[in-house]
Amino acid sequence: MRALRFGHSLPRYAAARVAGSLSPGLGARVGPLKLAEIDEPELPGPGWQRVRPRLAGICGSDLSTIDGKSSRYFEPLVSFPFVPGHEVVGELAGGERVVIEPVLGCAVRGVDPPCGACGQGRADCCERLAFGDLGAGMQTGYCSGTGGGWSTSLVAHDSQVHPVPEAMSDEAAVMVEPAACAIHGVLGAGPLTGATVLVLGAGTLGLCAVAALRRYTGPATVIAVAKYPEQRALAADLGADVVVRPEETRRAVRRATGSLKLGDRLAGGADVVVDCVGSASSVAEDLAVVRPGGVVALLGMPSVVSVDMTALWQRQVTLRGSYAYGFEAAADPPRRTFDLAFELVAEAGLDRLVSATYPLDRYREAIDHAANAGRRGAVKVVFDLRGEKRR
Ligand SMILES: [Zn+2]
Ligand SMILES: [Zn+2]
Repeated sequence: MRALRFGHSLPRYAAARVAGSLSPGLGARVGPLKLAEIDEPELPGPGWQRVRPRLAGICGSDLSTIDGKSSRYFEPLVSFPFVPGHEVVGELAGGERVVIEPVLGCAVRGVDPPCGACGQGRADCCERLAFGDLGAGMQTGYCSGTGGGWSTSLVAHDSQVHPVPEAMSDEAAVMVEPAACAIHGVLGAGPLTGATVLVLGAGTLGLCAVAALRRYTGPATVIAVAKYPEQRALAADLGADVVVRPEETRRAVRRATGSLKLGDRLAGGADVVVDCVGSASSVAEDLAVVRPGGVVALLGMPSVVSVDMTALWQRQVTLRGSYAYGFEAAADPPRRTFDLAFELVAEAGLDRLVSATYPLDRYREAIDHAANAGRRGAVKVVFDLRGEKRR
């Protein structure tokens, strides 16, 4: 089958890091990602199914990997070579369309009894991501044994497979995984009824976070910070009360909360900041605009960042990471995150965030488009496998 495959090549990874620092997405030209003809992954055993991807999204975490920017932290949590792609709608042998829940926790790995977290439906906190019947890998799309969405065939465990309702388009279904990340992030930030919430960043994650805040929490005010005009229009449409450019952030928070100004930061601030960027400058901004005792929910994937943490200490701010999804005890009623995500995608019309589709052989263009999505007026860029030959 044809697949985009990420090999283990340190020289290529180093080249990607240099290229990616020159221009986002350029790592795809010199790095370890290659279009190749490879064998389909084998079914690991009973309880596994073959899935033919139909659409597979390009995520920010994929782009960091391609540009050589992801942290060495991940080294023991991936296995090479791997086929990227964890935002996947595909079809089973019988033609049923499914969305893959990519986290490779204890159930998928045949670890029995499961770790404490997986026992509670929280594979996002699994402690066995490199153990059991499969090679290391946090998710489908980072594990050599499962394959990934940027190909025409992967294998998925029964526990990873969610049927897609007949009325839902492929474009909507491919948004379920990123929507689940956003839902998990906002529900994990604590009770938000009556709160002033700032959402920093208006790519896929930020826009899904705005929609999730509106649907599942009861904030008094949602302020969205967006760099580009298309993002601002979408943020307003998805339910942000106030939409501002990055340079207007502090003024908007001041106005919404009645904070006093203290030098170049605020004496008070937003109750909760949802950071959908994850860079040194975004975390510094979070700490400048969150109120004393407030919460910063970090949804965007950081790498090594250098930040002055004095404000976090003196203002007793909680910095809370948010990875993936699992079970939302804070939802009413408590439910699996993916069940909430199917609902949110349909109700908020998140299929409109899919801006462009590409066949596999135009992968360099696709990655360039995704890496520069905001500037080019796009949100989610996906691979379209529906026209690829199957073998
Ligand atoms: Zn992702
Ligand atoms: Zn586990």
